[in-house]
Amino acid sequence: MTREVVGRFAPTPSGSMHLGNLFSCLLAWLSVRAQGGRIILRMENLDTHRTSRKFAEQLMRDLEFLGLHWDEGPYWQSERGDYYQECLDKLSVQGLVYPCFCSRAELHAANAPHASDGDYIYQGTCRALTAAEIAEKSRSRAPAMRLRVSGTVGFNDLHYGWYEQDLERDCGDFLLRRSDGVFAYQLAVVADDGAMGVTQVVRGRDLLSSTPRQLYLYKLLGLPTPEFAHIPMLLSGDGRRLSKRDADMGLEKLRERFLPEEIVGSLGYLAGLLDRPEAVRPHELVPAFSWEKVPMEDIYLPSDLFDRSSRS
Ligand code: GLU
Repeated sequence: MTREVVGRFAPTPSGSMHLGNLFSCLLAWLSVRAQGGRIILRMENLDTHRTSRKFAEQLMRDLEFLGLHWDEGPYWQSERGDYYQECLDKLSVQGLVYPCFCSRAELHAANAPHASDGDYIYQGTCRALTAAEIAEKSRSRAPAMRLRVSGTVGFNDLHYGWYEQDLERDCGDFLLRRSDGVFAYQLAVVADDGAMGVTQVVRGRDLLSSTPRQLYLYKLLGLPTPEFAHIPMLLSGDGRRLSKRDADMGLEKLRERFLPEEIVGSLGYLAGLLDRPEAVRPHELVPAFSWEKVPMEDIYLPSDLFDRSSRS
């Protein structure tokens, strides 16, 4: 029996969406719709200090404005703490979780930077603490929780092909819960995609290097594994990845100057699905969608693409 395709939007509502976020949402939407599947919306608001309801609500209006409709949700990660704790307990009983007392400064001083995502490779400072050392350290500091990793994990990305990591060498034991009690992205995203029956994850390639850690978690938690398609990042003219700081490329600003069809058309053009940036609705791009057309390299935003004065 073939599984129904279930995709998701999983934005972090910590600011106004920029074109890079929208590019991911559009491709996730197209890939799922091209296969007649369903889309879930999940707000990744684990860190309630960095995220807000206001941004989440704006984000939903923005998706609807562009015609990127979802079928289920929104789910809120901030409401799912008990479930994440259950998942953490499942890993603990396997003897794979340990408390880590390293401070942020110690972590950055003692550990090599991660090859691709600006994180660091944890060298296992707290891996072998004795019960007495743990009790002693717990008196002055609440610990974070880490997962012990081992082995090589690889997968076949729908867009980039085979990718693998030796977890110990390339990532190190990674965080499941921060010392302030906030669950880590890696744990929550796997717990949720698994529980929500997601079969296909489409997202920026900045998360490609997280995928082996996530596959390792799927296996340990006994959850069904989705397929993954990572997509190129959108770069500003000076070669930086777009971020929430690029206010001009935020949808809030673009909405004032462009019709939703024009924004979708420009993104469809950048994705290689249109020969020129004409105005279209998302569903009009469905027949043209194919992973082969989507570029592999990161994409520089042409300076005139979102410059109203240069468009008729
Ligand atoms: N919440 C993450 C973000 O906004 C995306 C997570 C994912 O797609 O796995 O960057």
